Amino acid sequence: MSNRRRRAWGNSYRTEYLRSRIWFRRRDAWFAETRRRGIPLACAACGQPAPPGQLELHHVDYRHVVRAEHGWVSRERHEDLVPLHPLCHDLLHRLIERDRVLARMRSRRDASNLALARLRQKLVRLGAS
Ligand SMILES: [Zn+2]
Ligand SMILES: [Zn+2]
Repeated sequence: MSNRRRRAWGNSYRTEYLRSRIWFRRRDAWFAETRRRGIPLACAACGQPAPPGQLELHHVDYRHVVRAEHGWVSRERHEDLVPLHPLCHDLLHRLIERDRVLARMRSRRDASNLALARLRQKLVRLGAS
């Protein structure tokens, strides 16, 4: 995908997909699946347990979000999504967008995972002081 097309895709991903009923359904299904697997729900950045209503889902990979002729198709795998507090989610995006190394990374999964690891360290330090 060219950079121009990628940017255009990124814009409609944010303004259309993340506001669509298809995404809301996918999000609900993610929380249901997590419950079914018996995984305790907690923010992936600060580690605090939280109910679904207090968590957003970050896409560590959106290759399986497809914009088809008839509309969006959400084929994210369970592992493509991680739960975060809105504030922690915001911090994560700022890290990814502002850090030159992270911004240049080829895959969003790598950038997300590295940013998450850094954010966890930061939040642990803050909590300890
Ligand atoms: Zn958090
Ligand atoms: Zn996100």
